[in-house]
Amino acid sequence: MEDCIFCKIVAGEIPCFKVYEDERVLAFEDINPISEGHTLIMPKKHARNLWEIPEKDLTAIHLASQKVGNAIREALDPAGIAVLQLNGRGVNQVVMHYHLHLMPRASDHPELPVTCWEIKEGDMEAIKKTAEKIAEALE
Ligand code: 5GP
Ligand code: ZN
Repeated sequence: MEDCIFCKIVAGEIPCFKVYEDERVLAFEDINPISEGHTLIMPKKHARNLWEIPEKDLTAIHLASQKVGNAIREALDPAGIAVLQLNGRGVNQVVMHYHLHLMPRASDHPELPVTCWEIKEGDMEAIKKTAEKIAEALE
């Protein structure tokens, strides 16, 4: 895919700090890390988001996230690892090549902003209606 920065990383035209690679995926360090060990896992074949990525690549990414997550735990002993994946400009996806963020947090570091939203009780009737709408769309 022309002008895709992550495709250029896959092609070796832009360097990266690689941590893992297999036939389908590449995992590398984010150059603007939210925390030490912030790692991205992406398919080698371009797909923009969850709606486009083929099942085999999606599976490979999630299997790789377990391997890389184990390695992050062994190497950095974090308090926990947040996993995040953005789809669309409306939720601030910046690089339009599917990628999963693995964000470890050290126990003596502040909370990650992505993991500390305020819990407010929902409107059960509205939740039920939304669930029905989504379930219907799955039929
Ligand atoms: P998004 O908001 O699309 O989920 O996040 C894109 C991520 O890619 C950001 O965290 C950003 O720091 C990272 N990123 C952008 N350009 C590069 C790059 O050239 N190399 C690496 N390693 N990470 C990048
Ligand atoms: Zn791409």
